[in-house]
Amino acid sequence: ASGSDDNDVVVIGGGPGGYVAAIKAAQLGLKTTCIEKRGTLGGTCLNVGCIPSKALLHSSHMYHEAKTTFAKHGVKFDNVHVDLAEMMGQKDKAVSTLTKGIESLFKKNKVTYVKGHGKFLSPSELSVDTIDGGTTVVKGKNIIISTGSDVKGLPGITIDEKRIVSSTGALALTEIPKKLIVIGAGYIGLEMGSVWARLGSEVTVVEFAPDIVPSMDGEIRKQFQRSLEKQKMKFMLKTKVVAVDTSTDVVKLTLEPSAGGDQSVLEADVVLVSAGRSPFTSGLGLENIGVETDKIGRIPVDSRFSTNVKGVYAIGDVIPGPMLAHKAEEDGIACVEFIAGKEGHVDYDKVPGVVYTHPEVASVGKTEEQVKELGIAYTVGKFPMLGNSRAKSIDDAEGLVKIIAEKETDKVLGVHIMCSNAGELIHEASLALTYEASSEDIARTCHAHPTLSEAVKEAAMATYDKPIHI
Ligand code: FAD
Repeated sequence: ASGSDDNDVVVIGGGPGGYVAAIKAAQLGLKTTCIEKRGTLGGTCLNVGCIPSKALLHSSHMYHEAKTTFAKHGVKFDNVHVDLAEMMGQKDKAVSTLTKGIESLFKKNKVTYVKGHGKFLSPSELSVDTIDGGTTVVKGKNIIISTGSDVKGLPGITIDEKRIVSSTGALALTEIPKKLIVIGAGYIGLEMGSVWARLGSEVTVVEFAPDIVPSMDGEIRKQFQRSLEKQKMKFMLKTKVVAVDTSTDVVKLTLEPSAGGDQSVLEADVVLVSAGRSPFTSGLGLENIGVETDKIGRIPVDSRFSTNVKGVYAIGDVIPGPMLAHKAEEDGIACVEFIAGKEGHVDYDKVPGVVYTHPEVASVGKTEEQVKELGIAYTVGKFPMLGNSRAKSIDDAEGLVKIIAEKETDKVLGVHIMCSNAGELIHEASLALTYEASSEDIARTCHAHPTLSEAVKEAAMATYDKPIHI
């Protein structure tokens, strides 16, 4: 551990918010230390979030394709089966390669890395209980809190990470459950549900609200739910869990309609509690320096990421805003730019959201519901993937592109894509929103043929005029 006194910036937490902030600070010539208690860098995202989930989504997709579609393409082999331990090994390798990669980036950029738990002694001083059992003090002129978030439990349900699991346990099951119940139909629940459904689990998703992924455009959401249902995922919406019984071999959940009514019992081998995440500030000593938190434990910040205490900043999942890795990274860069006396910038209206199921669902900007609510006159252009030659040529033509534009000016307000690779396709829409492009601007941009991206161009044509291929 460094214990150095003269840091310009100390970052607490080595997740996507913290490690990116630390690297950027060092690149801007600021002497920087990052404190991380986990023992590996990358935070939730690399260790137990984005990366391992995408690794398993990919592996399970390959298996599912091998079982269900390869033969149609003339690729035939007998006895396709899953070796779960090997699949998990592949995921673990992806995680360790990437977390070690960040350690190398720290070395390359001369960021000091202190492995331990940091706690405020004063606004410019932290005591760190190091992983090797020691204690050290780290001082800095500016301190950035990037302590992220943790799994939110549900009252009356104890997570044991074996039969009642959080996303962390669901990423490391040692057997494929025959029956899996997912509590919560947000993107994490649907992604993990998809993984296990593809590997053979009977998956039921129980959701208190009337809809899955509430932030999604309603029309896209309906098609998305139908698609997941075709993949044999079952949904029990407007349903709440009132009791959990783990006293026998199977877990028994007592369910009730959200609005009250007759109870029913649903059995499962494994239950995934996926009811959201809470900001994490426990043991950080915020009370020692008077940093305020709001009702749900988030740290409010001003437009320059400053907390109510001078010299103390906060970014990422621990502050209000979408709890997403790329948003945390944007926060980190902008926060450090402000500290370095430059201008930083994050536009929270243009943070893309992606659900990495198959098909993927990606969106940026406003949903049709939001535009209606704002009273903006608008036009909608849609293009189904069935009209896209690349999608047809690879027999993967589920989904659509939907573009919402302001009626008067044709300015693009929101883009919603459901198709394989939607998470890659969304970024031309992000760029369009950033540059305040019109749907005609997208339509008149030459798109390579044959690509899935042509569906974005055709949806743009459909917004202000007519598409060609449908
Ligand atoms: P975190 O990544 O949570 O990092 C905070 C770090 O701070 C942790 O490593 C913690 O150990 C450390 N820490 C906390 N307190 C202290 C302390 N006092 N001292 C030292 N260290 C401390 N987002 C996406 O954008 N795309 C996805 O596909 C995606 N998939 C996800 C899948 C799952 C299963 C989960 C759980 C999350 C997923 N997320 C995804 C969300 C994403 O992981 C978070 O938004 C992101 O990690 C937030 O980054 P952060 O830096 O704010 O916090």
